[in-house]
Amino acid sequence: MNLNKRASFLILPIIFVSYALAALVAYEQQSQSIQKLEQHKLNLRLSALHSEFSTYDRFLDAYLVSLLEGETLENFIRDTSNIYRDRMLTNNLESAIERYFNNLTEFISLAVLDENDDVLFYIENSTDPFSTIRDEQLRLAENIQEEKKLNIWEHHFQSHGTIMQQGIAIDSRTLTTPLIVQLEDTYKVIIAAKPSAFDTLLKEVQQEFQAIVVFTDKYNQPQANKLYANIQLKSNYYLGITPSPSYLGNLLANLKQRLLFIVILGSLITFTLLQLLIRKFITAPISQLDQQLTEITTHERQNIDAPQSDDEIGRLGRKFHNLYEQLHQSYQKSHQQSRTDALTQLPNRAAFYETASHQIAEAEKSESVISLIYLDLDNFKFVNDKYGHEVGDKLLQAVALRLNNIINITAKKFDAELPQAFRLSGDEFIVLLPNVSTEQALKLCEKILHLFADGYHFELGHFPVTASIGLATYPQDGHTLSQLISNADLAMYQAKKSGKNKQAVYSKELAKRDRQRKEIETKLKNLNPDKEFTLNYMPIINQDGSIKGCEALLRWHSKELGFVPPDLFIPIAESTGIFEKIDLWVACKALNDLPELGELFGEQFELSINISSAEIGSERFIKTLKKLSTNTQIPLNKIILEITETFALNQEQNALGWLSELQKLGFQIAIDDFGTGYTSLMQMVDYPVDIIKFDRELVNRITLPEKQTLAKGLVDLCHFQEITVVAEGVETEEQHNLLIEAGCDFQQGYYIAKPMPISDLEQWFTEYQNS
Ligand code: C2E
Ligand code: CA
Ligand code: CA
Repeated sequence: MNLNKRASFLILPIIFVSYALAALVAYEQQSQSIQKLEQHKLNLRLSALHSEFSTYDRFLDAYLVSLLEGETLENFIRDTSNIYRDRMLTNNLESAIERYFNNLTEFISLAVLDENDDVLFYIENSTDPFSTIRDEQLRLAENIQEEKKLNIWEHHFQSHGTIMQQGIAIDSRTLTTPLIVQLEDTYKVIIAAKPSAFDTLLKEVQQEFQAIVVFTDKYNQPQANKLYANIQLKSNYYLGITPSPSYLGNLLANLKQRLLFIVILGSLITFTLLQLLIRKFITAPISQLDQQLTEITTHERQNIDAPQSDDEIGRLGRKFHNLYEQLHQSYQKSHQQSRTDALTQLPNRAAFYETASHQIAEAEKSESVISLIYLDLDNFKFVNDKYGHEVGDKLLQAVALRLNNIINITAKKFDAELPQAFRLSGDEFIVLLPNVSTEQALKLCEKILHLFADGYHFELGHFPVTASIGLATYPQDGHTLSQLISNADLAMYQAKKSGKNKQAVYSKELAKRDRQRKEIETKLKNLNPDKEFTLNYMPIINQDGSIKGCEALLRWHSKELGFVPPDLFIPIAESTGIFEKIDLWVACKALNDLPELGELFGEQFELSINISSAEIGSERFIKTLKKLSTNTQIPLNKIILEITETFALNQEQNALGWLSELQKLGFQIAIDDFGTGYTSLMQMVDYPVDIIKFDRELVNRITLPEKQTLAKGLVDLCHFQEITVVAEGVETEEQHNLLIEAGCDFQQGYYIAKPMPISDLEQWFTEYQNS
């Protein structure tokens, strides 16, 4: 529930209850005043009724008196012969009415009755020409007689109106008020009136108050809290008016309705106003704060606006603003740190993935290209191992700095977007080059390689470190980042294989070769060596031309792939862990062939077997070799184990100890391919080594006429350490002679013989001896 709603839920009941309480109090007061007011109104009406009533009553009284005192009645009774006597009495009544009421419309009737209650005279002021005396008047006359009363007043209350009548008895002789005893001889004069004004008013009051009207002969005490009025009309004659309970009920119900309406309307108006005010001054600023904070979390804004107001919300907002500012800064800092490689200060792998994904998405939109240069240092491990990690770190820092400089300078020349260099891990770097052609990217690669043209020089010295570079381009070489990376990596791997400090561009061809490599790998894993492997032997000769021994060289005739040269499959076997199986097969086969070879070449014959440098350190390999030699009963000093020079880089695996162990068993150890790596001869002579094999390249170099002294120097150095020297790849007579002159102990090469199956050796040997 948001604040607005919560505020509404809180204030609405309070407002409503307040209004309701106020309404209750108002109702209490109002209902009382209404009651009082109505009572007062009723009293007023009653007074008016009383006044009207009295008017008629007084008229009846006064007229009777005037009749008694005047002559008209007397004349009427005495002068029976007067034909105008009726008329005179009528005139008298009419003029009395006119005088009293100021008009002639009031219904007044006058009756004179004789001793026998026969009507002597009857007149009424009405429009009825045939009117006769009314029953009430006759009964009144009888009542005078029966009740022996001289004067009777009556009031008849009927639904259509009331009749007020008064009758007196007059002595028939004196025409004055008789004694009661003489009532038999009396005339009765009865006057009646219909008090129209009283009736009308009474009807009005009755209607107004929906009242019950009661005429009583005694005063009725009004009840508390009830509308009731009682007024004395005459002595012993009272008018009581009881308004219907629903009359006051309706008024109160009306009041209730009005108050309820006021409660609802008032509550609503107050609620709306309060809500508006609360929203404007309290919840709206909080909602704004909330909204802005939400936007921050959804990255739609950087920070909230610092509010200006000097209240709690303003201060809260400013505190949030400052807090977020600090948070943001420290986030930026840690984000920057998390994206920066601590050693080189280049952006790191995480930064690379982020930037590259973004650039690829952009390039997809703008249909542009991105070049990805994958750089891996060669021999960096060697520096680390040999000179320590500190030097390695410094070297990486120097490389990063130069890499950055060179790409910045080159980018300016290309007028390209700023390229970026990243350190992926260890000695791996990546450069992202948006919007440049492949030619330009290759130019940059060349410039980078140029840094390592002659190893790597920097303030700590000269190190045999080079770089291998692979180049892949979006979109032609991959649509996704992972594709691009793996293709650039493949190209880099290719560059590394093709020799150090090289670059390779990813291509379908390259991918094909990679597939081929993978194919070789699977085939190697599954092959049966006895069926597909054979050994060739390459003779090695002494200075005098006699046979010193042979090197066993592996041949693979794959059923599916055909002939696969060892240069191709041995490195694959080494890098995938299949080498042990191969080495053991070779050793086994070679040892089996040894007796036959010894028979052919004589007692002094020695057999060279190549061992994968990956084998170094393997105790199992030593054990198996031991077992093999015991089984075949071959003296171990007839076996030379050839290990490539690069093993020297593998100091960690305790290569020297391992070699010593082999040597102690009796094997001779030869360092193969010497001259291709970076181990100096000075280092090599400290190793437990019996023979050093000069690589074909080295042999080519030192057999140039001008390098002859170098050849001799190298050989002498080995001899000084009691190491014999084999020159490999001797192809010409000139080389052969030069090497003999330099003191080289043994020679091997096409000049002497190519590698051949054991079955061909005999024929070759015969021919060789004859040549
Ligand atoms: P490697 O041990 O240096 O063997 C000498 C290689 O140089 C052989 O190539 C040989 O034919 C070649 N070679 C010798 N003299 C000459 C020459 O005058 N001119 C030319 N052009 N080449 C010459 P191959 O037999 O193709 O072997 C290549 C590499 O394969 C070997 O180099 C070795 O590193 C590896 N290899 C061969 N057989 C085995 C093996 O049984 N086990 C292991 N682990 N590696 C082997
Ligand atoms: Ca060899
Ligand atoms: Ca070699």
